[in-house]
Amino acid sequence: MGQLEATAGRYRSLRLSAIAGDLADLLGQAEANEVSYLTFADMLAEHERAQREAKRIDLYRRQAKFPSDKRLEDFDYRYQTTITKRQINALLDFAFLDNRENLVLIGPPGVGKTHLAIGVAQKAIEAGYRVRFRNALDLVEELELAEMKGELKKKLAQLAKVDALVIDELGYLPMSRQARYALFQLVNRFYEHRSLMITTNKDFTHWGEFFHDDNVAVPIVDRIIHHSHVYMLGGESYRLKQKTLS
Ligand code: ADP
Ligand code: MG
Repeated sequence: MGQLEATAGRYRSLRLSAIAGDLADLLGQAEANEVSYLTFADMLAEHERAQREAKRIDLYRRQAKFPSDKRLEDFDYRYQTTITKRQINALLDFAFLDNRENLVLIGPPGVGKTHLAIGVAQKAIEAGYRVRFRNALDLVEELELAEMKGELKKKLAQLAKVDALVIDELGYLPMSRQARYALFQLVNRFYEHRSLMITTNKDFTHWGEFFHDDNVAVPIVDRIIHHSHVYMLGGESYRLKQKTLS
C-alpha cells in the first residue's frame, strides 16, 4: 500500500472521511499553491467541517419534507410589496425560534405565503435549526390517525422534536370536531415550547367561524398569536401574473 492510501486510511479510521476521500486533491492544491504547513493544516480541517455541514443541511432538508424547493433569494419584493425584504431579513437571526415565537403569514392565494415560509425555513436549517413542513390537512389527518391508535401523545412528542413546524394552508377547508381537537392538542404542545410557522387565508377575526366558534377556537387562536410575528400579505396572485405574461 502506498503512503497516500495508508494516510487516507488513518483519516478514515479517525472518521475524517472528507479528508480521507479527497486527500490526493487537497495535497495537489496545496502543492500547486505552495501553501504554508499551517495553511495546509487549516485546509484539511476546513474541508472536513464544510463537508459535514453540507451533509447536515442536506439531511435536515430531506427530513423537513418541503413540497417544493423555494428560496428567499428567488422572492421578488418588487412584485410583492405588502411585505418588505427588511421585515423578512429581520427574522433571519432566528431570535423568534430561540424565543419559541410563531410566524403567521395571512393572505389570499398566490401572494407568496408558502414561498416565504419555505424560504425562511430553509435559512433556519442552514443556521442549524430543525424544521418540519406539513400541509394543514395532512397534519390533521396524521394527528387523527395517531389519536385513533391511542398514540397522539407520542405523535405530538415526535413533531415537537423540531424547532419549528410549518403548517401550510391552515383554514382552507373546514375541519371536523375531532380534527379541531387534535389541532388544539398540537398548539398546546408547541405553546412556548416550539415555534409554529403558519400560512393561512383567514384573518384571525374569521378563525372563529373556521373553528365553528366551538370552545377550542378561542384558546387555539390565543395561543398561536400570543407570541407571534404576524404579516398580512396582499396584492394580485403571482400565478395569475405569470399566466397573463405568457
Ligand atoms: P400562496 O402560498 O400565498 O398561495 P405561493 O407561495 O404558493 O402562494 O406562490 C405561488 C407561486 O408563485 C409559487 O410558485 C411562488 O414561488 C410564486 N411566487 C409568489 N409570489 C412570488 C414573488 N413575490 N416572487 C417570486 N415568486 C413568487
Ligand atoms: Mg400556499
